[in-house]
Amino acid sequence: MEKKYILALDQGTTSSRALVFDKQGRIHGSAQHSFRQIYPQPGWVEHDPREIASSQLGVMVEAMVSSSVSPDEIDSIGITNQRETTIVWDRRTGKPICNAIVWQCRRTASLVETLCGDSSVAAMVRKKTGLIPDAYFSASKIRWILDHVEGARNLAEEGRLAFGTVDSWLIWCLTSGSVHATDVTNASRTMLFNIHTGQWDNELLDLFNIPCSMLPEVRPSSADYGTTSYPGLPEGIPIRGVAGDQQAALFGQCCFESGRAKNTYGTGCFMLMHTGNVAVESSHGLVSTIAASAPGSSCLEYALEGSVFVAGALIQWLRDELGIIKSAQESEALALTVEDSAGVYIVPAFTGLGAPYWDADARGAIYGLTRGATRAHIVRAALESLAYQVADVARTMEQDSGMRIDELNVDGGASGNDLLMQIQADILGAQLNRPAVIESTGLGAAFLAGLNTGFWKDLDEVRSIRAHDDHFLPRMDSLARRQRMAGWHDAVRRTLSSSDE
Ligand code: ADP
Repeated sequence: MEKKYILALDQGTTSSRALVFDKQGRIHGSAQHSFRQIYPQPGWVEHDPREIASSQLGVMVEAMVSSSVSPDEIDSIGITNQRETTIVWDRRTGKPICNAIVWQCRRTASLVETLCGDSSVAAMVRKKTGLIPDAYFSASKIRWILDHVEGARNLAEEGRLAFGTVDSWLIWCLTSGSVHATDVTNASRTMLFNIHTGQWDNELLDLFNIPCSMLPEVRPSSADYGTTSYPGLPEGIPIRGVAGDQQAALFGQCCFESGRAKNTYGTGCFMLMHTGNVAVESSHGLVSTIAASAPGSSCLEYALEGSVFVAGALIQWLRDELGIIKSAQESEALALTVEDSAGVYIVPAFTGLGAPYWDADARGAIYGLTRGATRAHIVRAALESLAYQVADVARTMEQDSGMRIDELNVDGGASGNDLLMQIQADILGAQLNRPAVIESTGLGAAFLAGLNTGFWKDLDEVRSIRAHDDHFLPRMDSLARRQRMAGWHDAVRRTLSSSDE
């Protein structure tokens, strides 16, 4: 039967999704299931790996059945996943030995401090992994499991235990345990992987006291990961694409060359800039990570990554805590009733300030209120604050990489707000491109699989799929832009915890 579709499995933090893409990159079918978030103690976050697998395999079948796609029509599967989340299972039984420790979980913060607190150790970790030592990444989570789950250390020393990020776990399940592998992008988020050599690193494994026998084999993002053979599921579908969610989105946004960048506007924002074959060392606290490559790429490719902690979450706050809008969508119509924010600035430092300020103790503030300020001005200032924060991260990336961002490809829930996109283009002084299909993450995984099998011939063909972008061009003159940014930076300065105002 003709292979007409690629199946993308998008395993996220709160839900598992499956998307069926056709040759034009359109979504032909989809399904989504949420699963439990487990909070055993304050600051701890877990998932049940069986629920991750069952929800993901469930939506895979549901997406096919609900869109009348036969498994014979599926060319291949691409997997993209929440990154860093750590799963350890027994190779013999295939059963996880405990819950998955989720990327957000802070239980290993003091362990990381103990192991990497020394500045020379931290510098070594940074140099090898491109990451800033933190509980966020997988290494300390694996160590925690070995130290705290009864019998785990012994089983690991016997070679019985397997570690994987969520991609590896899904591949293991889908292939009934015949493939234990991960891709370079997911490996680069473990803090055990040397991003320059493309190998697991013995010095890092020693530092965290993790036996190398637990680790999956590392493959390129567009490669052969076996075929489906889970009892009761469609058999023999090749798995050919794997990438962590942000790197998959970068690929799905067709940012294949250095200087190309994407930003995802969700609860927070994630910006990635492709830096070619160079792993840029940030001087401003950004991380360097491995980018997904097309098949046949001879060298590793890299990206700089920066995030904004509070983006769409600020719009939720306006809706749920202040109650001045009824829905996130309403923010656009309301903000359009005023010409500007009348000098109001919101610094949404709910959990401190990230790049380039790195001030964990800063707390949010609203500045510039006058008697004439209305809820419309506040909402407009909120949208502007998203744009200012993204502009700060973009400028930081430009400084670190020496490359200018002339265009930014956008996606994520809040990128549907045209006013926000226009404000962003104005504040950044760059063109924004918003694809018709904003499911960049799933699309990226599909591209990686389809390029590997020849479903899509090459990157040019893949690029042509994105031909129908909406564009937002900067309309603000540079003087006005400078004044607005100066107002923002003034507000940020007053918000910093070291500020004496
Ligand atoms: P995530 O994947 O982080 O859950 P989504 O990509 O689904 O997020 O985007 C949802 C976020 O975007 C929410 O925080 C919501 O407040 C915000 N959002 C959604 N639509 C709009 C809109 N039209 N204008 C502004 N913000 C929006």
